[in-house]
Order: sequence, then structure tokens, then C-alpha cells
Amino acid sequence: MKIKKGDTVLIISGKDKGKKGKVLEVFPKEARVVVERVNLRKKHQRPKKSGEKGQIVEMSGAISVSNVKLVCPKCGKAVKTSYKILKNSKVRICKKCGEAV
Ligand SMILES: [Zn+2]
Repeated sequence: MKIKKGDTVLIISGKDKGKKGKVLEVFPKEARVVVERVNLRKKHQRPKKSGEKGQIVEMSGAISVSNVKLVCPKCGKAVKTSYKILKNSKVRICKKCGEAV
């Protein structure tokens, strides 16, 4: 997958289109990612002890990696990436500015 945990991505389709966020989790097998504050779902949390109140917490849901584009930390644009082999390691390259990202 071209998207890694910790990347900043732009959402390019779906109800959160146009939002930017940090990638919190990646699921390479399913080609899905969890992006901060995107695809929020409300979840009811049961009280842990009796006498405590249950809570509603918002959780970010996984979305398809095809719905996001990497925001290049070097040029700040939503870009496509490619890979290059540099010194025997695979480096991700921004197609716009040519920098390793
Ligand atoms: Zn760039």
C-alpha cells in the first residue's frame, strides 16, 4: 500500500470528501485505512461499573484506500506517489516535487 500510518491524507470521495487527516491505522489486506476524524461512527460504551453512566464515543471508521490521496509533506499538495530503489531500499517518491516522502 502506498499509504502508511502517520501520513496526512486528503479524502477524495465519499461523505468526508475534502477533509484532511492523519492516518491512524492501515489494513493492507483489506486495502483500507482509518483516518483521524473521518467516517465517524458513534459507539455506545457500556458503563464499566454499576452506577456509572454509559458514554457515547465517536470512532473513526475504516475507509477504502482508493478514497484517499497522500498529502505530500514537502510540497503540501495531494499527490500520487511512485517508488524508487535507492541504496537498496524502496523509497516513496512524490510525483509532483520528486522528493522522497
Ligand atoms: Zn511533493
